[in-house]
Amino acid sequence: MIRIDRITLREIQLPLVDPFRTAAGVITARRIVLLEIADGDGVTAWSECVAQELPTYAPETVDTAWLATAEWLAPRVLGTPFAAPAELHAVLAHGVRGHQMARAGIEMGAWALAATRDGVALAALLARHSVIARERGTAPRATVATGIALGAQATATALAERARAAHAAGYARIKVKIAPEHDVAPVAAVRAALGPDARIMADANSSYSLDQPAHVAALEALDSFALTMIEQPLAHDDLRRHAMLQRRLATPLCLDESITSVRSVEDMLALGSGRVVNLKAGRVGGLREAVAIHDLCGTSGVALWCGGMLESGIGRAYNVALASLPGFTEPGDLSPSARYWARDVVTPEWTMDHTGQVRVPLDRTGIGVEVDVDRIDDLTTRTLALRA
Ligand code: MG
Repeated sequence: MIRIDRITLREIQLPLVDPFRTAAGVITARRIVLLEIADGDGVTAWSECVAQELPTYAPETVDTAWLATAEWLAPRVLGTPFAAPAELHAVLAHGVRGHQMARAGIEMGAWALAATRDGVALAALLARHSVIARERGTAPRATVATGIALGAQATATALAERARAAHAAGYARIKVKIAPEHDVAPVAAVRAALGPDARIMADANSSYSLDQPAHVAALEALDSFALTMIEQPLAHDDLRRHAMLQRRLATPLCLDESITSVRSVEDMLALGSGRVVNLKAGRVGGLREAVAIHDLCGTSGVALWCGGMLESGIGRAYNVALASLPGFTEPGDLSPSARYWARDVVTPEWTMDHTGQVRVPLDRTGIGVEVDVDRIDDLTTRTLALRA
C-alpha cells in the first residue's frame, strides 16, 4: 500500500556542458521540475517531470506542468491510499485531457516510492509488472546499451568528426538530427565516416511534409543509407501520412512524438504507420502506460527503444530501469551524465563503459542512485510544498 502525504515541487536550473542555440537564444541551463514524494512513514522518492521550457516538442512546458501538478493533479492523490502504483494512472488521467508529463512526474515517483518501501530496485518492480517479463521469466537486464543523438553541426565534416568520436567512445547507435535541406548530406557524411556496419538512424522531429516534393525526395534518398530507422518525419498527429510514407520506404519508420498512449501504438500497428517505437514514459503519462506499451510491442514484434528528454540523473534513473525490460530491442538514449551536465544531481553519476553499456543498479533499492540534495538546493529557483 502507498499513501502520499507530501509532494514538494522544485524547479532547478541545471547548467549544460554544451550550451545550444535555439530560435529564442542560447540555452546555457536546462529548467527542470523535480518532485520529492513522501509517505506518512517518512519514506521519500525523487522523480522528474520531463516537460521542457517551450512547447516545441510537446504541448506541455515546465510552467504548465508546475500549474497542472499543483492545481489539478497532486490534490487527487495526496492522502489517498493506493494498493499499488499502477493504480495512480487512472486517477490522474480521469477527466484530464493531456498533461501526460505532469501526470507522469507524480506517477513515476509513486513507483519509486513503492520500490523503496518494498526494498527492491525500480527495475525489478517494473519487471514484476510487465506481462512479457513474467511470461518469459526474464529478470531485468544488468546492463543496457546506449546510443547518442547528435545535433546539427556547422558542416558535414564536423558532424562526421563527432560521430566518429561517439562511435569510438562505444556508443551502440548514432542518431543524426535532420531537417529539410539538412538531411542527405549529413547522413551520407556519417555513413561514410563510420562504415557500412555502424547502427545509424535519423530523427526528423516532425519537420517534413508529404505536400513538399523536395521533402519526399529527400526522405526517399535517405532510403539508400541502410539506416536502422527514420524517426518521426511527419506531424505528431498524422499517423495516416506516416503509413503512406512507410509504404514507399524500405527503411523502418519510428514514431516518437505520435506515441502518447497504448492506443496510439495500436493505431500505428493497424495503419502501418511505422515499425519502431521510441518510448518515453513522460510522454505517455508514466510507467504503467509505458510498461503496457512495452508489452504490446513485445507481443507484436515491434522494435522498441527508450528515448531521452535531456533528463537530470534522476529522470535518467527511470529511463535506465525501464530500458532494462526484455522487450527493448534497440539501444536507448541513455547517455552518461557527463555528456550533458558539468555536475549531475545524483551520486554516483551515470556512466557508460567502452562498449556503450550502462549498468542497471539492481543491487540498490528504488531509483538506485543517491540524490544530492545540497546540489539541488543550490540550483533551486522555486519550491512549492503540497500536503494531504
Ligand atoms: Mg525524437
